[in-house]
Amino acid sequence: MKTISGFWKFVVVCVAVGTIAACAQNAGAPDPHGVSLANMDRSVKPGDDFYRFANGNWIKHTELPGDRASIDVFSRLADLSDKRTADLIAEIAKSDPPASSATRKVADLYNSYMNEAAIETKGLSPLRLHLDAIATIHDKRELAHALGEGLRADVDALNNGVFHTANLFGLWVAPGFHDSEHYVAYLMQGGLQLPDREYYLSDRESMHKIRAQYQPHIAAMLELAGFSDAEARASRILELEHAISQSHRGLAESEDIHKADNTWSQADFASKAPGLDWTEYFRGAGLSQQGSFIVWQPEAFTGESALVASTSLETWKDWLAFHLIEAYAGILPKALADERFEFFGKTLSGAQQQRPRWQRGVSLVNDQLGDVVGQSYAQRYFSPGAKAQAEAMVGNLIAAFRKRIEALTWMDPKTKAEAKAKLSTLYVGIGYPETWHDYSSFEVKADDIFGNIWRGHLSDYQREVARLGKPVDRKEWCMTPQTVNAVNLPLQNALNFPAAILQPPFYDPRAPAAANYGAIGTVIGHEISHTFDSEGAAFDSQGRVRNWWTPSDLQHFEAATAQLAAQYDTYKPFPDLALNGKQTLGENIADVAGIAASFDGYRASLSGKPAPMQGDLTGDQQFFVAFGQNWGDKTREAALRQQVMTDPHSPGEYRAATVRNIDAWYAAFNVQAGEKLYLAPAERVRIW
Ligand SMILES: [Zn+2]
Repeated sequence: MKTISGFWKFVVVCVAVGTIAACAQNAGAPDPHGVSLANMDRSVKPGDDFYRFANGNWIKHTELPGDRASIDVFSRLADLSDKRTADLIAEIAKSDPPASSATRKVADLYNSYMNEAAIETKGLSPLRLHLDAIATIHDKRELAHALGEGLRADVDALNNGVFHTANLFGLWVAPGFHDSEHYVAYLMQGGLQLPDREYYLSDRESMHKIRAQYQPHIAAMLELAGFSDAEARASRILELEHAISQSHRGLAESEDIHKADNTWSQADFASKAPGLDWTEYFRGAGLSQQGSFIVWQPEAFTGESALVASTSLETWKDWLAFHLIEAYAGILPKALADERFEFFGKTLSGAQQQRPRWQRGVSLVNDQLGDVVGQSYAQRYFSPGAKAQAEAMVGNLIAAFRKRIEALTWMDPKTKAEAKAKLSTLYVGIGYPETWHDYSSFEVKADDIFGNIWRGHLSDYQREVARLGKPVDRKEWCMTPQTVNAVNLPLQNALNFPAAILQPPFYDPRAPAAANYGAIGTVIGHEISHTFDSEGAAFDSQGRVRNWWTPSDLQHFEAATAQLAAQYDTYKPFPDLALNGKQTLGENIADVAGIAASFDGYRASLSGKPAPMQGDLTGDQQFFVAFGQNWGDKTREAALRQQVMTDPHSPGEYRAATVRNIDAWYAAFNVQAGEKLYLAPAERVRIW
């Protein structure tokens, strides 16, 4: 949620295998340094449709490859990053690394995924062991134990914004809301295969269609795994997931950290959420010693726990089996992997074919051993010079933000002092982390992909559990250097800008300042501003949950942001589906603030000299076009609908359009009343 781009794009298809694939080309000849003039459509008036003005030619001349649900600047760079990572993996494999070294693990993990013949030969046998264990569950107590054993560290509310897990619940280990010096346990709702409760409950035609195809998909997966009566089982599983979804919070509400701040002692669970045998659940999860938890969505815990009591043991066992099969289908024989892709890739995201296997293998290595390849990646592709220049730019942006805060007329001096303290204690990581993850407890075997992934998830989980109660490392990263994204970590008061996003077209040391500030500068400003957005405002300079705003400051902030939410509520990508201004509010605030601060930084960087022209574009015009070109995309309808319903980030078209809130944009393009994006000065949302 605090990222610059949606995580959903990376998690849709297979176990630990994202959806990003083949490459897209820019339309026309590349512009060597600066904005892409070739990608613009000059027949569109910037004041009518800024997104198409900046990207129209690229959109017209780009074909969405069959293996993609969407493409954009992020996915184009991710392709490059994947190719480089694949080359690094190939080099590592060739060098025949010593047994049990981290690099040996990379080679063995990748090769075990690529060896499709071995996967086919083993068939369902790796799965069988676990299915047999489910079959022997003979009462609700053993069920509770098995559900606990399934808990994984696979959610992340405030950094990457991962609110979905198909397990009954998800664990997030992070600094405490009230003790930011130590790691505490956050528990979040789960249990659904489909991306969000809306998929089960919405009356929209498109959701009805997906549900109608989901049940046959469940049956097909069970049948492929050798189950009898697959149809009847599928119907009961869907009914159970439907009931679970009714207890879930929607995304916009889950994003409200004040509603998430619920501390339960372990003993509280039995009284506040009766039904599940919690003692046995926590024993299965290896958390018997954990005294308390922050329960993110209490009503979901109450509802789901009650369903454990009220729904038959046989249905729960089928649910467990189906969720296990689904979670590992991507690394099981082709028949299962294909059936999973048919539904989750084609029906849910609109992709026509799977990404190339090597690319899925790279995603898998990134997920399980990301820091090992990340270390080599950073060494090879991120020079000390590039790091120093990017650090200087961040320094300028922070200075611009500080000035903006000082100049605010509506903010109380005390609030300003804390806001400035937050800027002073902000840790900004550029390129790569200072320390790397240790994977020594993760056992990787040649030709055992199922076991490797199983052990990888378990070892991630055990590492997170082992951190509980330990002092927080504020400089720890939550992204690898080869990730094309950026993130604000509110509980650590820290930012990460991985090496892979600090390259053209976002950042080019040889491009004019206007282009760099318009592209990566607005991204940096976006992340800094999360420090002060609707959620950032809840955390003080030490990362504690503390209201450091005066009532009148908060009132102004809430009025201004409500106006922005209302603006986004009016955007309708489809006649039956509008954006949710509340769900996307934090990201939309960050976009407006990021442009404002970066524009200041850009102007300051000129030191009073005129900006160089690029073609017929002035410096100010280049700045805004570069921003608009961050958001050019092509997305299939199913994927776009999924994004609107499940992503805190607005679709690219509406992100580009937010320039309408910035006075300097009107001056740069001489935008007049009557043009479609025109807002009267009083209607423009000004927050920072
Ligand atoms: Zn963001």
